[in-house]
Amino acid sequence: MGTIPPTLATPEGALEERTPVALLIDDSPDVHRLLAMRLRSEGIDVVSATTGSDGIRIAQESLPSVVLLDIDMPGMDGLEVLRTLKDTEATLHIPVIMLSGLHSPHDKVTAFDLGAVDFITKPFDVTELRVRVRSALRVSYLLRMLSQRAQIDGLTGLYNRAHFDARWEEAASTCARHGRPLSIALIDLDHFKSVNDTYGHPAGDAALRGLAKLLVRECRVSDVACRYGGEEFALIMPETGPKAASIVCDRIRAALSDVQWPKHPERSITCSIGIVGSEGPCATAASGWIESADRNLYRAKKEGRNRIVATTIEGGVSMAQAG
Ligand code: GH3
Ligand code: MG
Ligand code: MG
Repeated sequence: MGTIPPTLATPEGALEERTPVALLIDDSPDVHRLLAMRLRSEGIDVVSATTGSDGIRIAQESLPSVVLLDIDMPGMDGLEVLRTLKDTEATLHIPVIMLSGLHSPHDKVTAFDLGAVDFITKPFDVTELRVRVRSALRVSYLLRMLSQRAQIDGLTGLYNRAHFDARWEEAASTCARHGRPLSIALIDLDHFKSVNDTYGHPAGDAALRGLAKLLVRECRVSDVACRYGGEEFALIMPETGPKAASIVCDRIRAALSDVQWPKHPERSITCSIGIVGSEGPCATAASGWIESADRNLYRAKKEGRNRIVATTIEGGVSMAQAG
């Protein structure tokens, strides 16, 4: 790992906040026996699955630090498992190392395209595998740490969730104390899974970056646009009541649906937006605002998507009162 700056290359144990867990998905009991013993002696816990579908279920339930995934399995093969892991929000960021008995360049390319971090050909040297697992764990940990510290989302360049949480707490308490107008919008892309399924993950990523650009273009300098998680974004609008927030958000909604995507011009991508706001003082806790915005987002989805639903926050000064 020569690329890691020496100041960050702390001893292995100090890098992980918990004992790392490797999920091994392989139909061969021999591989399980060999690797479980070896990785455990390295301080890595091992959980096992012998079929692709069990592997996916365990990955989603236990969110391992790394997945070791055999390509050649009966039933659901490793590439299919990889595709599912990368299409599922909870498991999207878990590094996956592929194991294969075949020297197929095509499988290798496919695996890397789908988001695998490494590829090891069987029969493997256990020491080499151990080193590669360590390296994947280290890179994944550093990426998480850096993105948290920088408070910037790596894909879109917007503020990330950690930044949002801090700014939102601050905005809600300023509203409660000083009674200034405030609104929040939660923006969720519609049927985004089908965008990924139809055009592939890279096209999905391009759409996420496109929406991020549009948010920055359409909102004001004092607004805070964040990637809330997955295909969901949040917009904090200080000094803005729900009526004005609705106008801004409807502009964002309309602009997104009008975008012609270079790789798939025939498909329009839309979003639904839940907004809550207050024109004056509101004692509702920061989390209560989010719950209300989420409820409005859910309503927007239920009422047909590609729309906004805005309300005044309970306990806030209403739109009508504000004139
Ligand atoms: P709905 O409009 O009802 O919310 O449907 P949906 O398909 O958008 O919602 P669902 O929650 O079923 O799917 C969200 C999808 O977003 C699944 C997940 O793979 C995808 N996604 C989340 N984060 C990323 C990402 O960083 N890149 C890409 N390409 N896709 C992502
Ligand atoms: Mg969603
Ligand atoms: Mg969605």
